[in-house]
Amino acid sequence: MIEENIGHFDVVVVGAGTGGLCTAIEAAAGGARVLLVDKQEEIGGMLHIANGEFSGAGTRRQAAHGISDTPEDHFAEVMRLSHGKVDERLAWRSVRAQGETVDWLEGHGFAFDPATPGLVHGHEVYSVPRTYWGVEHGRSVVAVLRRLLEERVADGSVTLRLGVRVEGAVVADGRVAGVTGTGRGGAVAARGDAVVLATGGYDADPALRNRFLPPGCENALIACLDHATGDGLVLAEELGAATSGDGYFIPVMGLIPDPGRPGFAVDYREAFVEVAPAYRTPHEIWVNRDGARFVAEDTTSPEHRERALLRQPGIEMHVIWDRAVAEAAEPLLRNGAGDWTRERMRDEHDRGRWIVTADSLEELAERLGVDPGGLAETVRSYNEAVAAGHDPEHGRTTLPLPIREAPYYGLTSVAASLLSRDGLRVDDDLAVLDREGAPIAGLYAVGEVLGNNVFAGDNYVGGMSVTPAMTLGRELGRALAAGRKSARG
Ligand SMILES: Cc1cc2nc3c(=O)[nH]c(=O)nc-3n(C[C@H](O)[C@H](O)[C@H](O)COP(=O)(O)OP(=O)(O)OC[C@H]3O[C@@H](n4cnc5c(N)ncnc54)[C@H](O)[C@@H]3O)c2cc1C
Repeated sequence: MIEENIGHFDVVVVGAGTGGLCTAIEAAAGGARVLLVDKQEEIGGMLHIANGEFSGAGTRRQAAHGISDTPEDHFAEVMRLSHGKVDERLAWRSVRAQGETVDWLEGHGFAFDPATPGLVHGHEVYSVPRTYWGVEHGRSVVAVLRRLLEERVADGSVTLRLGVRVEGAVVADGRVAGVTGTGRGGAVAARGDAVVLATGGYDADPALRNRFLPPGCENALIACLDHATGDGLVLAEELGAATSGDGYFIPVMGLIPDPGRPGFAVDYREAFVEVAPAYRTPHEIWVNRDGARFVAEDTTSPEHRERALLRQPGIEMHVIWDRAVAEAAEPLLRNGAGDWTRERMRDEHDRGRWIVTADSLEELAERLGVDPGGLAETVRSYNEAVAAGHDPEHGRTTLPLPIREAPYYGLTSVAASLLSRDGLRVDDDLAVLDREGAPIAGLYAVGEVLGNNVFAGDNYVGGMSVTPAMTLGRELGRALAAGRKSARG
């Protein structure tokens, strides 16, 4: 039984994350009466932990820094980095307008990090600085969107309901006409002339995620927040929606299995292994379960090392170092706050939460679950490479120190997934398509529920998740508001 009928709205937006907030704000600005619901008690979705790096070309900020760039150039790079595997139509539609989204954020007082626009080396790098982030990363985006939302809540154009989990759709006269769900006081329902699914991805639900991952990747660590359980995708599938199934996966590297939460990564805001040589010179070696190295640890290509890791058994690697490296190298662990010092690393060695310490390589290998003979042979040949200043096997060029002084250290890192690669199929109006390719009347989708393959193909492309969610969310909001006006004449 429905305990509460929230009302009838022009637009019901499900999910107050990146995409949903932008949709709701712009729909309301265009004159629509909007209901925005979220199952959590706070708006912002994944932006609370995301780096929140967004990209756009031809921006005022680029011009102020003397950077010449165009959406066409940006799109050419999206095509290059994604190996041409994006949905060209939707990706171009987003890229074309992303610069304007960046200017829009600026116009609303976004707290840019002074280093932006910048080049980011965690993923394959753009050839010109067109990536931006805030002083508080994703939370800086939330700060702007919260202000804009509060204005709309205050003028009555947006009704915000937190703590409401949408679980089903109201279907009337052959179209989606509202949602049902559970709120703080029990079952709720709301009517809407349009329903927008902005529920984000599915990566926090291992069973659903593994349905889309290629075989052999099932133990990829989960590195996103718990809300990403694919609710919108499941709801739409129950209405007959089609999903993509491209089977693309590229992991995030450097995340550490959380001993207290099997299958999940230690929150990267606490610690991750810095794998990008642009940010830290590697002194360690990385080995697989056989004890064998599998890539030059100093490769400047994120994609190269990520794909190499995907080919290893269990998609895991073990970082190996010794006392001399511990003393000489910059801290192996990092986080966004930048508070991993050598001293903290020493404490972490002693705490033994993630780092294994041993008096011999053999003991280290056994405790890590690595083949001891293989590791001994690998360290021997690596030390030879250091002595010769040449790594014939993998072509590593930074060979600072041999690994030969006890105690020895090891840390296991597993490939991780942090955003959903597959998702709902939509048409040019972001209307959700059914399995015959026809739009499901009244149902729209935006953001990660579409799957990141649409905008990044089989790779990571800078800012190409947050920015399409914002940009197409804004466009969808405006279009739904305009459609409402024209429908009423
Ligand atoms: C660690 C990390 C770093 C990242 N860094 C970047 C980056 O730098 N650049 C980039 O482009 N991308 C990045 N991403 C990805 C990016 O943050 C997300 O893809 C994007 O924010 C998704 O936006 P969204 O609106 O689709 O979903 P979300 O922001 O996840 O929001 C979905 C919202 O829907 C709500 N919801 C879900 N189900 C229901 C339901 N049944 N009923 C009601 N509400 C519901 C959720 O509570 C949530 O608030 C990162 C992701 C992670 C995990």
